[in-house]
This record gives sequence, C-alpha cells and structure tokens, in this order.
Amino acid sequence: MTHSGIPAPNSRRLRGYSFDPSLSVQLDTALFNEAVFKIRWEEPLKKGPTGEYLEVVDFDPASNCFYEPIDLNDPYILAQDGLIPSESNPQFHQQMVYAVTMTTIENFEKALGRKALWSSYQDGKDEIFLQRLRIYPHALRQANAYYSPIKKALMFGYFPASSDAPGDHIPKGMVFTCLSHDIVAHETTHALLDGMHRRFIEDSHQDTLAFHEAFADIVALFQHFSFPEVLRQQIAKTRGDLASQSLLGQLAQQFGKAIGQYGALRDAIGEFDKKDNKWKPRQPDPNDYQTELEPHARGAILVAAVFEAFLSIYKRRIADLLRIASNGTGILTPGELHPDLVDRLAGEAAKTAKHVLNMCIRGLDYCPPVDINFGEYLRAIITADIDLVPDDDLGYRIAFIEAFRRRGIYPRDIRTLSENSLSWSNIRDDEQQGIFKIITARLRFFVHLLSYLDEIPDVTRVPEVSPEYKNYLKIILMPNLESRWNGLDDVQKQQRWQELFESQQLPKKQWDQLTDSERRHAEKLLWATMSDREKIFSITRAAQAALHEWLADYKADANSADVKRFEALTGIYLLKTGDNEQKLAGLKFVKDKFTQDKYTFECHSFRAAQRVGPDGNTVNEVIISLTQKREVPFAAPAPGEEAETFAFRSGCTLILDLHTLKLKYVVKKLIDDSDGRLTRQRAYRTGEARASLRATYFGRQIGNNEPFALLHSD
Ligand SMILES: [Zn+2]
Repeated sequence: MTHSGIPAPNSRRLRGYSFDPSLSVQLDTALFNEAVFKIRWEEPLKKGPTGEYLEVVDFDPASNCFYEPIDLNDPYILAQDGLIPSESNPQFHQQMVYAVTMTTIENFEKALGRKALWSSYQDGKDEIFLQRLRIYPHALRQANAYYSPIKKALMFGYFPASSDAPGDHIPKGMVFTCLSHDIVAHETTHALLDGMHRRFIEDSHQDTLAFHEAFADIVALFQHFSFPEVLRQQIAKTRGDLASQSLLGQLAQQFGKAIGQYGALRDAIGEFDKKDNKWKPRQPDPNDYQTELEPHARGAILVAAVFEAFLSIYKRRIADLLRIASNGTGILTPGELHPDLVDRLAGEAAKTAKHVLNMCIRGLDYCPPVDINFGEYLRAIITADIDLVPDDDLGYRIAFIEAFRRRGIYPRDIRTLSENSLSWSNIRDDEQQGIFKIITARLRFFVHLLSYLDEIPDVTRVPEVSPEYKNYLKIILMPNLESRWNGLDDVQKQQRWQELFESQQLPKKQWDQLTDSERRHAEKLLWATMSDREKIFSITRAAQAALHEWLADYKADANSADVKRFEALTGIYLLKTGDNEQKLAGLKFVKDKFTQDKYTFECHSFRAAQRVGPDGNTVNEVIISLTQKREVPFAAPAPGEEAETFAFRSGCTLILDLHTLKLKYVVKKLIDDSDGRLTRQRAYRTGEARASLRATYFGRQIGNNEPFALLHSD
C-alpha cells in the first residue's frame, strides 16, 4: 500500500475502560473510566487484531461460535479512536484486550530496553519460536481468567454476576473478565514473566507462585497511574493522600464485586472491615511473611511492600509542593485543592509510579534462574538500581528496604538491612577468573548482532567453535530454510529480491535447485523476512549454544584446580570427582573415556542489558544463566521399592560487564544441600502447607498442568 510518502503514525489511539465497565455506571467514576490507550502503530495489523505480538481469536466454546474479528484499520474505526466502549459488543472486547496487552508489553519493553519474547515451545531439546501469544476473550464461561503456559494463550472467562452482589452491575448481568484493565494486564504480565523466567512457574518454594501473582498485580496496579484523568480525579478526591482509599490502590473491582465480595478482589493498601463496612488501611505485620502461605495472600504482602515504597517516595517528592501550597506548614487547609496543585501532584505520582515499576521490572534481570523468593527479589531490585543510578539522592532504595523490612521480608543469611549488605556482592578483582573474561569477550559477537538486526549473521565469525558446530549454529539462526523459501509467495519474493539485489534476476526455483551463490542471496532474503523478535530469539539461542560449547571445551581442557574455582564461584558443577559424586547424586553426567566424567548443564538464558541512567551512567551488560538439575528422592524408599523423585534445580545468573570484561555479580542457587535448600524444598514439596494448597487448587477439575487456571478461579 502506498501512502504518498507520508511517514507511518507513531501510535494508534484506541478507546477502552481505565478500570472495568462497572465504574462507567457510577456517577463519580463514569467520567474518567473511559480512557484512550495510545498503542504503538503496528504494520501490518490484520483482523483479529493480529499483529507482531498477539493474535486475538474470538471463539466462544460455550456458545460454539466465532465472533467476527475486528479490523482496526477500518477508516470509520480509525477515525473514532476505535469502537465505543460497550459490554455488549464482542468486537469492542477484542479491541480492549488488544489495547491493554499492548500497553503492558510496551511498559515492559521500555523498562528493559529490549523487545519482549514469549516463552518458546519446547519440542524435546528444541525450542521453537513463538511469535504470537493467543488471546481468547471469551474462552470459558466461568469466573476465571488465566495464562496458559501450555497453550501459550490468555484465556478470559465471562460469567453471570452473583445475585446477592452489592452494587453496580445488573444482577445476573454478565461480567466479562476481558473488559477489566487489571485482569488483562495481570494475565499479560504472567506471560511476559514466563517469557523471561521459564522456571518461575515451578512450585518449588512458598514464594515462587506467590511471586508470579504479586508481580502480575504490581504491573497492573502501577499502570493505573498512566491514565491522566484517573490520576487527577483521584488526587483531587483524596487531596493528594494516596495512602487513603483510592481506586489507584485497588485491583479488579468488578470481578471482586461480581463474585460477591465487598470491595475489590485485591486491595494493596487496605480493605473493608466486614463488621462496619468501613475501609481501613492495612497495617503491616512483620510476621506476615512467616505465617501467610496461600499464594495470593502471600503475594499481597509483596504487592503491599512495593506499594508502600511507592507511597513513601511520592510523599517525599511532594513535600515541597505541600509546603508551598500551605505557607510553609505542610498542612493543607480544608476544602478542595487548587487544580494547578492537583496537576503538579498528579505529575509527581505518575513519575514516581513509572520509576517504581521500572525498578521492579529491571530487577528481573538480576534474579536467580530458579526457585525465586521475595528476599532475593529485593536484592535484585536494589542491585539493578545501584548499577543504573549510583546515587540514591531521593531515597528510593531506602524506601524499598524499609517497606520490605516492615513485613518481615528478609533475605536469608543477611544480618543487617542496608543498601550495601542487600545488593549482590561485587566480584572482587582477586576472584575474577580467566574464563569469564574469555566468554564475555566472545559474547560481544552476539550482543553486537542484537544491535544490528538487519545484517545476516556471519557464522564463520563465531569465535572458537568447530566448523561442524558453526553449521549447527547456522541452522539455529535460520531454521527450515528450505520450507521458508518454498513457502514464500512469488510477489513477496520478487519485491524483497529487488530491494536487496536491484539488478539481478530472481531465480524462480525451489530451494534444492538453487546454486550455491543463489542460495547465499536467498538466505539474505529469508533473513529479511524474519521479524526482529524472531531474529532476537534465534541470536539468543545461538549464543546459548555457543556458550555451552565454550564451557564444554573449558571443562575438557582446563586444569582441575581452575575448574574447581569455577565450580565454587558459580555453584555449577562440571567435573565428576570422588569428592562430589556423593553430594551430587542424581545429577546427570556424560561418560568420558579418557578423563573424568562430565556433569551436564544447561545454558538457560542469554540477555543483553544496555541502559542509560538519569545521570548519564550507562549499564552495558550481558546476563547469562546456567542451570542444573538433580533427580532426588522425596524420602528414603521402603526396602525393595523404587523411590519417588522430583527435579531439584539449581543454577546461577552471571552478570558480566561488556566494557571491562569482568564478572560483576553471581546470583546462585546451590545444587548440594550445604545451605539446606534441598532439605527445605523437600519439606515444602511433601509438607502440609503444599498439601492444603494442592487440595484447594489442584483438587478441581481443571487439569494439573494449568498452574494459573487453578490460582485464579474463585
Ligand atoms: Zn495471576
């Protein structure tokens, strides 16, 4: 399509609910409950909508029908900023889920400074790129919505509101979870987190599922602050005191009301007292973290901690404004706030929320690859922030530490809660090892590829791997060349070919008929047809494979003292020795005819983090994680019986500085039981807490393999 040389717009404007439909029928909230989402302009965006990241599939199994997919490029729809919000129009439902998922993805990408990838399909050892997450706005007729890691889809339910529900929907009217900003943002975040940390959905500690829930809530919650109208109205209503009851601190109002509870489903900062129906701020209790085991309630502790950190930063940032507005007393006179003051306070709240959300998202890069707990997450947030913003002038980190402390969230083995003791400890110069310098230097090759995606990677330049392995890397970078070439339609082929190789003729041949030089051209063309995200995925996979090869060479060639130092620093065991085979029982190894047997390990992730902080401080890091797995028995077996086992995972995240080629931090989870983690995990996996959790969630008819379906149903 030609556009007479006019550049594509930056954004697409789409109307939707700021919260959910229930607020549109209440007088005091109706005016701001309709927001216009500004979404990145996608081209092409097909009916559905189907774009680069998402595919909305509107099949409703309960009524066995497909709803007509919306075409957001229809001029009438474009000219009106999308369809008018309406509960009864399925096409609007499609627009709403698209608008909110895209907003959530964009926030995530902005914080991390890179494109988001969904968790891939696993086909044995192979990983297959998943371009689009599927979204089913009307997937089930129940009070539930969830992310399915197996179907790679977001499933939204709808259901009749319960008849004794107080409030704002027609009794027995339908509640659509896909129309709730909070629920859509929450489910999208589950998928984004799974794309980054595939092992976090394993229930290996009382914190792991709770962390998933909490993180999803945190993202949904802080997105409220990006709606200017909502923010101004709520600031005016609370006179700037966001610690009092406001919509900003609540989640999923309609859903909560519809299933017959009073108030929101989850409220981060307070709740309605059932006795007098009055809202009361929630008081943090340092025992909460010790005693609360149910994933949502436990997750709520983390959400509340982050929200409190936000509130204290906000209060500090507005203190001067309040003094100016109150002749220096800091205490505002009664009555409505001046609209200018409301605007300034709203501006500070929005800035603070964005900053806190960014801190929470960036912390994900500094987490261990498996078995996350809240204390480690705090350490990750603090370290990521120190790296980017060395001077904490505004006390952001102190605010986080204080809020976590008040809820009893301490990292294990930490005596004092200061910024220094909480950040992951810097690897000193005398602890550095040659191998890290070597792999960081080699990984620069792949990081460079990530910045220039238009260039087809030249695998002959991958450092230090054999020619056969280079061929393997080439397949990873562009799998299925033949079917890609043969499957491309002629018009597209012709057009691309002309763009790339102006004068030369396109060979109209099947792949196996191409000459070698034609193939090289064809490869360039096929690379150009891949989306940026697929290229990133392929480069990431190739980097992981190369890294695995380098480390395998290292363990074969290095002297055993060096390998021991590597093992001690990373917690990853490479060589099977008489010393370690007992304590590492159940860890797989490969037999080696000539020397010692070698333990297997996985290069679990490879990410580049390139960011610039507010003071111009730059972070230029490559982050890799290595993992291992032991099959260990739940308990000693009865004589003559085979013991039932579980996968006990370990691993490390290594943060490497691309400038200095030094290892900055190691975040590790040990594989032996020297820190008692195996003992604790075994107790957790067999213990009462989990048994009752299983009874609550897993006893339902939904399959066992849908962790979030179970967590989300009422
Ligand atoms: Zn959830």
